[in-house]
Amino acid sequence: MNYHQYYSVDVVNGLGTRCTLFVSGCVHQCRGCYNKSTWRADSGMPFTQKMEDQIIQDLQDTRIRRQGLSLSGGDPLHPANLSSVLKLVQRVKTVCPSKDIWLWTGYQFTELTAEQHKVVSLINVLIDGKFVQELYDPALLWRGSSNQIIHTLR
Ligand code: SF4
Repeated sequence: MNYHQYYSVDVVNGLGTRCTLFVSGCVHQCRGCYNKSTWRADSGMPFTQKMEDQIIQDLQDTRIRRQGLSLSGGDPLHPANLSSVLKLVQRVKTVCPSKDIWLWTGYQFTELTAEQHKVVSLINVLIDGKFVQELYDPALLWRGSSNQIIHTLR
């Protein structure tokens, strides 16, 4: 997996103070996409073990308490990302069980594959669906267009 950006302290992508990772790779090609540079799965930088360790360390940092981890992109559920994202969320749930995980995907919840569900079964909040420019509403919290749904899973 490759990624484009990592914010160790972020207050705009989800509830509370969070760590946020923007991964590479997205097949949805939404018109008006805010992050076209992430579409190619080989764009950005390799997501290394060191980067994964850094995220865990940041989530465990007691000086700035993080509520959890946000995964965006790109699309964390892109087929090229599934094994790395699954490994990351499994580790977060094991070593930081009090932290919540939010994930943004262009896929709809109802169309997810079994492999994608393995990731989704470990996260707390899924924001799903493509960005639809005609349904864009800047007043919406944590999503760009009104077709996208915030699923609070657990
Ligand atoms: S799902 Fe998100 S990143 Fe992918 S094309 Fe649509 S808006 Fe862009």
